[in-house]
Amino acid sequence: AMVLAELGKRISGALRSLTTATVIDEQLLDNILKEVCAALLASDVNVRLVQSLRKNIKKIVNLEELAAGVNKRRIIQKAIFDELCRLVDPGVEPFKPTKGRPNVIMFVGLQGSGKTTTCTKLAHYYQRKGFRAALVCTDTFRAGAFDQLKQNATKAKIPYYGSYTESDPVQLALDGVERFKSDGFDVIVVDTSGRHRQETELFAEMKQISAAVQPDNVILVLDGTIGQAADAHARAFRDTVPVGSIVITKMDGHAKGGGAISAVAATGSPIVFIGTGEHIQDLDVFKAQSFVSKMLG
Ligand code: GDP
Repeated sequence: AMVLAELGKRISGALRSLTTATVIDEQLLDNILKEVCAALLASDVNVRLVQSLRKNIKKIVNLEELAAGVNKRRIIQKAIFDELCRLVDPGVEPFKPTKGRPNVIMFVGLQGSGKTTTCTKLAHYYQRKGFRAALVCTDTFRAGAFDQLKQNATKAKIPYYGSYTESDPVQLALDGVERFKSDGFDVIVVDTSGRHRQETELFAEMKQISAAVQPDNVILVLDGTIGQAADAHARAFRDTVPVGSIVITKMDGHAKGGGAISAVAATGSPIVFIGTGEHIQDLDVFKAQSFVSKMLG
């Protein structure tokens, strides 16, 4: 299934009425906006964002004040496209690691969001770009977490650090990062523990790890299928650690995706990748404009 296929179909359906209509007036614009907004809401995009998108488009497309002869169709199409891009793009340049120095990237997210999978995907991504990348497992909460990371890392030939005996996640983080720093690694990915809910201990632990290893970037992993709840999750994580970028996972399935997309606005952090499957190469660089173009088909 294509990412957000249903949403894209509805929006381009609404836009099609621009080419078939004989008169382009306020009434037509309102009808189009109504359908666009209904489609976004049905995809779990946050209601406040949808309202402001509608208001912005109305402000940009001032039909009464447009000079005769201007292409109203194009102006409406462009305004809608631009606002959809703004929805997924906070206009912040995402962190990019530099070769030749250690770049510590810490992952946070709820259990099951796809954090551990995405850590390996990211390390693999940078490895292919010629970075020396390594993984640190600090999850001492979930039984089997280290084994999972170890398995993924071994398969991808990525060096890893973890322990079956050390139970202090902060110590693990420090030891792992220290080891890979002194071994001259460029990208050191620190996987952290998740919980089913936003629990106080989880947030305390995240804060301590972040303070200890001073990450160059914190990546929040959000499950593309969680709907409206994404907004509150994203805010809670952002209030605890300096979230720098977002990865939205499981965008290959029937994810409505709008909820996770709304989280961009909640954190002000850019989406950097989307996860499109369970395999190591299923990680797509996210570009707002091509994402929206692709969605609209
Ligand atoms: P964690 O608890 O956050 O570390 O989550 P895991 O990395 O263990 O992932 C939970 C499940 O989601 C696993 O079965 C993964 O294979 C799956 N998963 C992760 N990312 C994706 C994705 O982009 N697409 C799909 N279809 N599954 C994913």
